[in-house]
Amino acid sequence: MEVKINIDREKCNYSMYDPSGCKKCLQICTPKVFATRPNRKRDFSIPKEKRIDPTIWILLTPWADYCNGCGACVEACPKGAITIQFGEKLIAPTRAS
Ligand code: SF4
Ligand code: SF4
Repeated sequence: MEVKINIDREKCNYSMYDPSGCKKCLQICTPKVFATRPNRKRDFSIPKEKRIDPTIWILLTPWADYCNGCGACVEACPKGAITIQFGEKLIAPTRAS
């Protein structure tokens, strides 16, 4: 089963990058498809207070092949930022964001 998870970076434009931010998708996903990491190599020269700067964290889907197509993350996302192509099935947000 081919799975493609698209995260609209414009819609998820602030909270997803911050590990203390939204992450509703990450929390609701039972198979643990999502993860966050700094989008740059860890740099201890960055001042401590800047390490959770929204620009240095990114939401990823490293285990997209664990997705079971439940759609929970798509429903939970307050921004309507997630769309999933799960084989033949398209799982898209139903509410406007
Ligand atoms: S559709 Fe379900 S299993 Fe797939 S990423 Fe979203 S919450 Fe996880
Ligand atoms: S639920 Fe939506 S807005 Fe929140 S972190 Fe996930 S993709 Fe971003």
